[in-house]
Amino acid sequence: MHVHKVFWEQPYLSEITARITSINESVVTLDRTIAYAFSGGQESDAGTIDSYKILKAEKVGKNIYYTIHGSHNLKTGDSVLVKIDWERRYRIMRLHFAAEIILELINQNYNHPEKLGAHISEEKARLDFRWEGSIADTFDLLSKEMESIVERDLEIKSKFIDEENEIRCWEIEGFAEVLCGGTHIKSTGEIGRVALRRNNIGRGKERIEIYLT
Ligand SMILES: [Zn+2]
Repeated sequence: MHVHKVFWEQPYLSEITARITSINESVVTLDRTIAYAFSGGQESDAGTIDSYKILKAEKVGKNIYYTIHGSHNLKTGDSVLVKIDWERRYRIMRLHFAAEIILELINQNYNHPEKLGAHISEEKARLDFRWEGSIADTFDLLSKEMESIVERDLEIKSKFIDEENEIRCWEIEGFAEVLCGGTHIKSTGEIGRVALRRNNIGRGKERIEIYLT
């Protein structure tokens, strides 16, 4: 049995009751959850299981293992309240989708450069590319397109492509369909205004940093 990942169907839920399916010292598994575990560059949620702080959330196969803080008296089968830090999660969701759009704009307008990495925290998102010259040369176009996409407040549909293997995608009609297992906002207007910054991270490697403003 693996955990039912409610954060996909209901990415705006900030608390849920769940049942403990196993405990190994401080490591707990649940029958269902809303607390995301680091994957695809999106950081884990901060949160609690009952009153115990989640110190670490690790995705292994289709399951998620939560390490909780302190000595506890939880038992397998117990019903618990899972809460996430919603402010943090929402910033991550907005930055995540800003990064999705920037990546798609780069791919569409600059011929799919090699992506070297991506990371989304609550403070910023970053995308790394193999790139000659300064990637800041793209910022006029990216900012203009981004602003227009945000202004048009386009619907973002997220769905399974292959439920058995938990492969998901997001789609904006007429713009893109992209594989991603992260948590997504419902429409592009939620992103709001963003700022782009360039960072040269080595010869032929460029980073785009994205900030909410
Ligand atoms: Zn995504």
